[in-house]
Amino acid sequence: MGKRYETVIGLEVHVELATKTKIFCGCSTAFGGAPNTHTCPVCTGMPGSLPVLNKKVLEYAVAVGLAMNCTVTRYCKFDRKNYFYPDNPQNYQISQLYLPICRDGCVEIETAAGKKQIGIHEIHMEEDAGKLVHDDWEEVSLVESGVKVVRKLRTERIAGDRSYLNL
Ligand SMILES: [Zn+2]
Repeated sequence: MGKRYETVIGLEVHVELATKTKIFCGCSTAFGGAPNTHTCPVCTGMPGSLPVLNKKVLEYAVAVGLAMNCTVTRYCKFDRKNYFYPDNPQNYQISQLYLPICRDGCVEIETAAGKKQIGIHEIHMEEDAGKLVHDDWEEVSLVESGVKVVRKLRTERIAGDRSYLNL
């Protein structure tokens, strides 16, 4: 009986960057603030507020891309992923769906069978949502909303002869 199926495993990894301020505003990223502190019109999605990219996020994204042998693009852009979720008052998330900052890299890992290269599909920058607090009552905290300078690393296909780590 021939091989009819191939196991394909994909990973999507989110990394929170160690910046002092959020990705699109000057609010602090300090952990553990009281609910809805460290917020402003931008990260709470107030009408008319405009995001401005944190330069440090861009620098970190490029550094990670270079460390993972990616091509760093000269042209990338952000997109709005529109959806409703209680901890995201903007009703959209700013991400890089179509033109991410880094593409086509690889990392080398040690396995029992020797070294193996894991391909990296892409690295992109995006903001994080807030969080829901389930205590005596339901609470929405926007401390981390639009906030944390999160870079999303996507991974795909780590299996068989073809291995890709899409960051
Ligand atoms: Zn803010």
